[in-house]
Amino acid sequence: MSEAGEAAVDAVEAVAERIEAERSHLTELDSAIGDADHGGNMARGWAAAAEAVAELDDPDPATVVKTTGKTLLSEVGGASGPLYGGSLVFASPELSDGLTAESAVAFAETYLEKVQDRGDARVGDKTMVDALTPAVHTFKKSIETDDVEPIEALSKAVAAAERGVDFTVPIRASKGRASYLGWRSVGHQDPGATSTLYIMEALLDVATEHVEVPDELPDHADSPTIPDAEADDD
Ligand code: ADP
Ligand code: MG
Repeated sequence: MSEAGEAAVDAVEAVAERIEAERSHLTELDSAIGDADHGGNMARGWAAAAEAVAELDDPDPATVVKTTGKTLLSEVGGASGPLYGGSLVFASPELSDGLTAESAVAFAETYLEKVQDRGDARVGDKTMVDALTPAVHTFKKSIETDDVEPIEALSKAVAAAERGVDFTVPIRASKGRASYLGWRSVGHQDPGATSTLYIMEALLDVATEHVEVPDELPDHADSPTIPDAEADDD
């Protein structure tokens, strides 16, 4: 399996684990301003996606993302299934020439466009768009304007998503099920914005693992001694 394909499969597995760990928290959030199914919806969908991508023969990142999206579309009901699943399928071709900083930006932008297009939500409507929009803009700016390393760009994007999640708390929902509550939705954190943040955090974890350089020197017994490195230990 290609290194990038392997990273993509690991990423889906990591997201599935994180979402499973947060299942009851997501359901709690959705019971306050929705119908208490977001945790179950997402956990079921991502577990199925992890199984589906594990069965792919020599996958590339675009195929992994497309398979994930298709699985979410078929397994996840409610608003979030088509939003997450359909947008992943739609954006997946952006990765067909491989996973680079540039293709990741293109993927993120197309994914955001599709979420906005399908759900017709904008920043301030108290949805996943509130976490996703600042995250994608921050990622793009970090890569394209500030020339930041991809991992650091992703880390800044996660921080932006986190602020986006916090921003959903004091505002009133005007899209999705929570909008039926009107002003009573104020004071509650949006479940979909929260799951978007968890997904991004899991992606950052996997990305960090895949580029990490071992910080320990190899065993001294079979490698030359590096005097300076040893002197630094004192
Ligand atoms: P449902 O609301 O159908 O029960 P879920 O509970 O799985 O679906 O997902 C709810 C989340 O979906 C919300 O917290 C919100 O973030 C997101 N959402 C709902 N409607 C929209 C929309 N029109 N655009 C973007 N996101 C939306
Ligand atoms: Mg719900």
